Amino acid sequence: MEDTFYCLRCNMSHPKSDKVLITTKGGVRRWSCIHRVKAKKDDQAVSDAFGKTVTERNKALSKEIAKSSLNENLYKR
Ligand SMILES: [Zn+2]
Repeated sequence: MEDTFYCLRCNMSHPKSDKVLITTKGGVRRWSCIHRVKAKKDDQAVSDAFGKTVTERNKALSKEIAKSSLNENLYKR
């Protein structure tokens, strides 16, 4: 049987090779697993991409608003 450890973060057992020692923001060293570390990185990438999308969308939206209010003004004349 493969050597495993019980991961409190995932609430499941992983092979011992998945165990990693991390240092938290507070400087505390604790055991985690590569799954958590990877998930955290993915989350960061996703939220970065999401932030960029929102910024682009807001830019496009404000351009649209500027255009439409300009058209309205032209129409009123
Ligand atoms: Zn885990």
